[in-house]
Amino acid sequence: MLDAPKAARMLIGGQWVDAADGAVVETLDPASGKIIGTIPDASASDVDAAVAAARKAQGPWAATPPAERARILWKIADLIEANIDELSELEALDQGKPLYVARWAEIPGAVGQFRFFAGQAMAIEGQTITPSITYQPQGKEMRAWTVREAVGVVAAIVPWNSPLVLTAMKLAPAFAAGCAVVLKPAEDTSLSAIRLGELIQEAGLPDGVFNVITGRGAISGAALASHHDVDKVAFTGSTATGRAILDASKGNLKRVSLELGGKSPVVIMGDADLNLAIPGAANAIFFNAGQVCVAGSRSYVHASVYDQVVEGLAAYAGGLKLGHGLDPATQMGPLVNARQAERVSGFIAGARSEGAAIVAGGERLGPAGTFITPTVVANVTASMEIVREEVFGPVLAVQKFDDVEEVVAMANDSVYGLAASVWTESLSHAHRLSSRIKAGTVWINCHSMYDASLPIGGVKQSGYGRDSGREALESYLETKTICAVV
Ligand code: NAD
Repeated sequence: MLDAPKAARMLIGGQWVDAADGAVVETLDPASGKIIGTIPDASASDVDAAVAAARKAQGPWAATPPAERARILWKIADLIEANIDELSELEALDQGKPLYVARWAEIPGAVGQFRFFAGQAMAIEGQTITPSITYQPQGKEMRAWTVREAVGVVAAIVPWNSPLVLTAMKLAPAFAAGCAVVLKPAEDTSLSAIRLGELIQEAGLPDGVFNVITGRGAISGAALASHHDVDKVAFTGSTATGRAILDASKGNLKRVSLELGGKSPVVIMGDADLNLAIPGAANAIFFNAGQVCVAGSRSYVHASVYDQVVEGLAAYAGGLKLGHGLDPATQMGPLVNARQAERVSGFIAGARSEGAAIVAGGERLGPAGTFITPTVVANVTASMEIVREEVFGPVLAVQKFDDVEEVVAMANDSVYGLAASVWTESLSHAHRLSSRIKAGTVWINCHSMYDASLPIGGVKQSGYGRDSGREALESYLETKTICAVV
């Protein structure tokens, strides 16, 4: 059975340490509101120490043969897999997610990241180029080529909704490229990152290549984002924090990748297979209690099937079993904390007062007030807050449409552009809609399908840069051009 650390420590340069000033923050079980333990509340001096450790380790790590880097990445994957039950329980306790979400989706997703990028570590290559420069000395020739070099020291800052897999999405390509990392997990969900630190040490990653700094975003996160010896910030989180990170990065013009918020549309055409589309659309929003960046939180349903779909979604929502993440029967857990549940309740109350109909759920429950019943909101209009804002909870707003032109405009009427899904049996609808919807990913007859090989990221205010896939590796590499007269 799980033995969560009561007073967890941070990892700096291979040593497990407290904050230099001894400060801690409590971490809670969101389902019960009970304190699980404490994590160090790092300050700027702890961040300085972690960045210095990463700087010292980075050069030798980048010079390590790619096959050796790959071997260690593969070993990290094996160790995560060997400890999958413990890591799943830790996520269920600390974040609140149902065990099955961690056990069958997220932790295997983290394993996949390390395996995919183990392969990529051995496939880093530059180009040879023939320039047209004519003024080299007589009798000499010109040669030119590019090499790819690690960006350097990376600050990875991640949110609380899917802690371990989002962390793996930063670490695996960064290590493959030869970067050293200082990770700042979210203050509510740092325990799996700390356990991952132990597994990474066991895998033999040299000290200092991976460091974990815990505590509050506004203190240690901000110190990392503005640090002059950090070369890149790889951030996943809210659009508001993304903007703050971009501002903080200006001092040394560090590279920044931003995986931000979303308000992803789910388009159900009149010709969709509703046996797939109704549970698919429900899962797109209720999985992980809607705390998913790509959650399908706006559904657009063709008028010919609208009533049937709304009824089906409401029935699905009403049938979900809420409970503690550690209870294997639980299908939906709490939100990560009472503040988030309060925020989500506020959106539901706002929709009600604007005249929307709550056709399922809408309640706030539980000993700590952190559970929100799966909620379906109908009678919404495009201008309502519930359609425009990222709720980040189990709340689906459903609207009706009549034709393709109308639904394309509705789907694109958002400041966000992270993901979308289209449910149709028509090849023509699938192609035309997927090319016209402005989003980083469009799924057809599925939603939230992640794989380490598939780039994921946003357009518009959902950010820029991509996690996963070859593109993620490229974002941890710089190109150096070498031009020679020979
Ligand atoms: P958040 O932006 O509040 O926090 C994310 C991380 O940033 C945390 O580690 C936090 O401590 C840190 N942080 C906070 N303030 C900071 C600052 N001033 N400087 C540096 N770091 C700071 O986000 P959250 O509430 O933890 O997570 C939910 C958000 O994350 C949602 O908007 C969701 O859409 C987004 N998200 C995006 C993706 C994606 O891939 N696009 C994936 C998951 C979550």
